[in-house]
Amino acid sequence: MRTEISFVIKTGLLFCVLSAGFSFVGMLLPERGLLPNPSGGLNLHEIGGHMLWGLVAGAVFLSARYIIITGIFAVLIDSDHLIALLHVDALSRMSHSFAFSAIAIVVLMISFGRRDYKLGAAAFAGVLSHLSFDTFAGNDGKFPLFVPFYNHQIIFPNIDWIYFEIAAIAIVGTVTLLARRKETQVQN
Ligand SMILES: [Zn+2]
Repeated sequence: MRTEISFVIKTGLLFCVLSAGFSFVGMLLPERGLLPNPSGGLNLHEIGGHMLWGLVAGAVFLSARYIIITGIFAVLIDSDHLIALLHVDALSRMSHSFAFSAIAIVVLMISFGRRDYKLGAAAFAGVLSHLSFDTFAGNDGKFPLFVPFYNHQIIFPNIDWIYFEIAAIAIVGTVTLLARRKETQVQN
């Protein structure tokens, strides 16, 4: 139990630091601009919604540890908004992107288990389910998804939330199935 809690806290902290750290790359991009005030993103409705969307995608892991970290990752990615408090010019929502997903997967797996594919899947599903709720919850479906290759916000209509969530569930489902297959192979 203790190691489970420490795993959740450590992976969550690293994910949070990575997301905040990656947002600084946005200061280097030519498309940078004044950042919107981040205080709107800190209300309970937002946090609860992101957590719920993450937990739903993570549920397919059928493992408490990975369900919980997917929910936590889905909330903590918004630490990339904190850079707005520094009053610098940057590109907003840097971590709402495939590049950040890739970095998070690689760094988390190197740090906590090179063969822990579920951890990598939790990071990716956390990002995707976060994008899903942002798209669902209002005029917020704007992400620099392909940064640093295409440094503009891509706008998604509200209805597209379902595709992000389905993608998150599909990734978790695929990795869970593959991991289970491997376990039974090892047992036989
Ligand atoms: Zn967000």
